[in-house]
Amino acid sequence: MALRRWRPSWAGLLAVILVVPPAAMAGAVPAGAAPATVAADEVALVRVQLPTEAMFHELVAAGADIAGRPRSTNGEVRADIVLTGAELSALTARGARTVQVVQRAGDGTARYRASVRGARSAAAADTLHFLQAYWWTSNGRTFLQTQVATTATDDPDVEITVTWRTAAGVTGSFELFRFEDADEYQYHVALPQELPAQPVQVTAVSSLGGTTRPTRPAAWPGSAPPPQPSGYQRDFIDAYATPLDVQARIRRLGRQYRDLVDVIDLPNRTQGYRRTAAVHVGDPAVAAIVVESVRFGDQNVNGIQVRTVDPGAADRPLSARFRDRVLTVSLATDAAGTTISTTDQVAALINARFPDRFRAFVEDGSTGLPMPLTGPVTLDDGLAGDAPRRPWTVQALRIGVHRDGSRTGVLVYSQEHAREWATPLVTLEFAERMLANARTDPATRQLLERVDLFVIPTVNPDGANYSFADFNFQRKNLVNHCTGTQRDPRLRNSWGVDVNRNYAVGSLFDGYTGASANCLSGTFAGPAEQSEAESRNVVALAEAHRNIKFSMNVHSYGGYFMWSPGAYKVPGRITLPRPSIEEAAYFLSSAKRIVGAIASERGTVTWPSQTGPVADVLYSAAGNSADHLYYELGITAWNFEIGNDLWNPETAEWEGVGFQPPFPEAHAEAMEYAGGLVELMRIAGEFPADRV
Ligand SMILES: [Zn+2]
Repeated sequence: MALRRWRPSWAGLLAVILVVPPAAMAGAVPAGAAPATVAADEVALVRVQLPTEAMFHELVAAGADIAGRPRSTNGEVRADIVLTGAELSALTARGARTVQVVQRAGDGTARYRASVRGARSAAAADTLHFLQAYWWTSNGRTFLQTQVATTATDDPDVEITVTWRTAAGVTGSFELFRFEDADEYQYHVALPQELPAQPVQVTAVSSLGGTTRPTRPAAWPGSAPPPQPSGYQRDFIDAYATPLDVQARIRRLGRQYRDLVDVIDLPNRTQGYRRTAAVHVGDPAVAAIVVESVRFGDQNVNGIQVRTVDPGAADRPLSARFRDRVLTVSLATDAAGTTISTTDQVAALINARFPDRFRAFVEDGSTGLPMPLTGPVTLDDGLAGDAPRRPWTVQALRIGVHRDGSRTGVLVYSQEHAREWATPLVTLEFAERMLANARTDPATRQLLERVDLFVIPTVNPDGANYSFADFNFQRKNLVNHCTGTQRDPRLRNSWGVDVNRNYAVGSLFDGYTGASANCLSGTFAGPAEQSEAESRNVVALAEAHRNIKFSMNVHSYGGYFMWSPGAYKVPGRITLPRPSIEEAAYFLSSAKRIVGAIASERGTVTWPSQTGPVADVLYSAAGNSADHLYYELGITAWNFEIGNDLWNPETAEWEGVGFQPPFPEAHAEAMEYAGGLVELMRIAGEFPADRV
């Protein structure tokens, strides 16, 4: 259509040809060049070099069908124009030059047909490419890990096989498995494979006939830390550490290294190792209520007794009294002297008579049933440990020569999750390495000159106390936000808030996935963002020291090294904003250094498939702390999952180590990940001081 609009102006343009000075035409068509011709009545898309900028504007004004204005390196005026051969001749006569016939009118049909032919022949084949192909050695063994993406993303049956070859010509192959996340295809991957020697080439083929180009795997992580100098002091860990042990260690380091340490009391005291006391009155399998204290068990509540009694007379009302630490409920009777009170009536009476002392609720399945004669039974908080029953002050070590905010700050924190017992060992070993070597090792001294280090060894001491004394798989804190029958003491091991889902960025409350609104869930986000003292403490420390530019959130287990984004929304798998290309490159290059430092201790290599954004390599974790620090405070925020799988050469299987491995394994994890944190100090030490 544009072509037709242009034609009426054609005569006017022809008239102008006659007045173009010959000089403007000089060199318009280079000698030897034979531009493709366009027949006078043929329509084509032609890249034309115009003699003047004015001619371009003239064409625009005349309504020429200008498809584009390509740039040229030397500033020549060019335009891509849809025009006839006759129109092109007219422009050529005025000094224009044909650079390229991009496409002819007849090309459309021909190219459409060719595309259909191509699609038919390619329909059976997908396109494959390697996202990752890395090899490494660990304790004398060689491993290969690859990730391959297929364009047949929606076909769940595509099988991809990787074939490798060593320099000596030994070959082998293994299958990849399809990895989907939130219903979205990600890639095909396999666990690291043991090989007889370094692979020099890998190729992947799919069951649809697709194939990759042969690729040379890269060395992972491809970096190693400087050697520890002779006399370097290390290994300050000889046992698992309870919160009391951690507290004692913090005090000792504060005393021992006064010139290098401040002990910081974080502002939000936790609930403490405390729970309300509760008891079943009746038989939960038949008919029962739960009576719970309003105060914590240690507040003169543990040991209070509850009983229901028959008044022994006819036509008596339901009544209750509390005397000598015994709550006695006297059931109502009918004219025949039979007790007639129901579970609901008894619970309602206790709530009405003693609102400051007791709460009562009917067990699931017991509603409306006759209240049995029971007791006495004893209220108890169920806590078996000897940790102090009082609010806990969470502490941080601040370590450095210049603890005045003028140096790059690093925040390292561990044990947000109570059961991850090896994690405070990592941060304590790291802290003491920095301090013990500061006087004897110039490199360590220099790091403490340049870096202002903050370490919170245990973020969640209450949960940790519960994990050590009561229920070793406790993940959350000890604050019980449940209501009603979810407060049944039989659910005691499911209460608490997941501290690492309680932060304010990308949270459950913002619509992100990977946290729960159910108070009994292992990933309960809490009643609101930052509802918990534990998460507020981490943010408070970071906000109070804005020189903090790096952070490491230490978890276990599995062997991961991760950064943001750590959460996405479903459906659509919409992540928090991705870091810029530059930031992502910095995350990865720093990760390789730290992974290399970890590997230097006992050969533990964090897999390339487990190095990357949390949302990509692990799962979506709505409201996690690292996302809060990164997006809200601009901190380069990383996460460790210590405790890498171990290769069992007997079974040729990778084996998980768990949250509380036998101590020698926990000790080894502390040593290697402390080495990783020292490398983080080196990275922070290179951060430009003028950006602090
Ligand atoms: Zn964790």
